[in-house]
Parts: sequence; structure tokens; C-alpha cells
Amino acid sequence: MDHSASNMASRESPFAGEDFRMKVVVDWALCDGNGACALEAPTIFELSDDDELIVLTDEFGEALRDQAAAAVRVCPKRALRLEM
Ligand code: SF4
Repeated sequence: MDHSASNMASRESPFAGEDFRMKVVVDWALCDGNGACALEAPTIFELSDDDELIVLTDEFGEALRDQAAAAVRVCPKRALRLEM
């Protein structure tokens, strides 16, 4: 079997090794910096010393799917959404 085409695609893809990518989007007009999302998804969000939400990575793969979904679920302002 010739794997050359798929190998080339993997090397060229910025998402090599990931089945899919998702993106978390913050509605900054709604976010009040309470930090609930950062507790659920510390790899994705961080709260600064002055309670500003910092998005550490807004695009990620399968490994962070559960964290991201939990963050969306707990946000009391409904300021987060996931895009696939
Ligand atoms: S949980 Fe929602 S409102 Fe709170 S910091 Fe995160 S995005 Fe902002």
C-alpha cells in the first residue's frame, strides 16, 4: 500500500495527529471574569490577578474536548460557545 499521499498530508497539516479541531469563542460583552471556566478548563483558560479572563489556547483537539465542554456548561453568563 502506498502511504505517500497521506504522509504528505499529515506533514502539511497544522493539525497533524488530531481527528478534528474545535475552537472556543468568548463573548467578551457577556463575560464578567468570574473564572468558573478556568476552574473547569485550566489548560484553556486562566484568570489574571485583576480578574481578567485569559484564553491560553482557543483552538484545540480531542484531548481538551471535555474541559472545553465543561467550561461552556458552567459559564453562568453563557459567554462561551464551541465551534467545530
Ligand atoms: S465562566 Fe463565563 S463569565 Fe466566567 S470568566 Fe469564564 S467566560 Fe467569563
